[in-house]
Amino acid sequence: MSEQPILQVSGLKKHFRLGRGSTLKAVDGLSFAVRRGETFGLVGESGCGKSTAGRTIIRLYEATEGEVLFDGENVHRLKGSKLQSFRRKMQMVFQDPYASLNPRMTVGNIIAEGIDIHGLYTGKQRRERVHELLRAVGLNEEHAGRFPHEFSGGQRQRIGIARALAIEPQFIIADEPISALDVSVQAQVVNLFKKLQREHGLTYLFIAHDLAMVRHISDRIGVMYLGKLVEVTASEALYAKPLHPYTQSLLSAIPIPDPALERTRERIILEGEIPSPLNPPSGCPFRTRCPKAMPECAAAMPELKEAGPEHYVACHLY
Ligand code: SF4
Repeated sequence: MSEQPILQVSGLKKHFRLGRGSTLKAVDGLSFAVRRGETFGLVGESGCGKSTAGRTIIRLYEATEGEVLFDGENVHRLKGSKLQSFRRKMQMVFQDPYASLNPRMTVGNIIAEGIDIHGLYTGKQRRERVHELLRAVGLNEEHAGRFPHEFSGGQRQRIGIARALAIEPQFIIADEPISALDVSVQAQVVNLFKKLQREHGLTYLFIAHDLAMVRHISDRIGVMYLGKLVEVTASEALYAKPLHPYTQSLLSAIPIPDPALERTRERIILEGEIPSPLNPPSGCPFRTRCPKAMPECAAAMPELKEAGPEHYVACHLY
């Protein structure tokens, strides 16, 4: 794995104006880098801004502030042929594989959408490419003539992945790609992502709402809370020694498969709901639910700082 980041996000903000002077700060100052060939897991409860972050990075949304550098180019300044070339390099896989597939199109035409938009192949070559993609995601050639409703949730997500792969991207943003699937199917889809990463040298930004889901795929993980990153480090370090009280509570909620350990597991139950991003608390955004909150937590927002080797945390305890 090369150390040169393929994606560098700096101070990224995405605010939505909602009328009557209120502003929803969905993403409020994200900074992180994703190295070529790695999987970066972006995790947080629903409403924390992780999906908005993904959509702003791929430029489905324009950024309010900040920078997204992909291969050294500022994504939000790209125009014309450079923007088109970026659109080929970065693709997205969505959470709900049914809602994201047009029910009136055959699977073959869905998968070939990007091929057609970018004018890559026609006729026999296009057909062969679709068959190759179906095989790559564990489906078969006959599936090309069928419609999305004829497939299970797991198969539909495989179709979504084939569609993303069709134009040979370098980077895939997978927005909760396994959350809507049965637990028995989730591992299969994660394994497919890993296989495709090995075969195609892909880099992933893998968005999920709980840490259990990203454990087996992520090299590094960023934990988000109310539009901000609160902890970023290598997967092993995060699971072995979580520093931020929010990460500690998320991890304590994951059941341990060993019954003896499970009985002694200490669970940290968080009080209250995630506050509205329309009216975030002063100081540390987590302070209204943090079991370790101190008076200074209300006064100043903790910055993301290096607390150990490549282990970043935003908390006044460190
Ligand atoms: Fe808790 Fe304070 Fe750390 Fe925020 S800064 S996570 S409130 S201890």
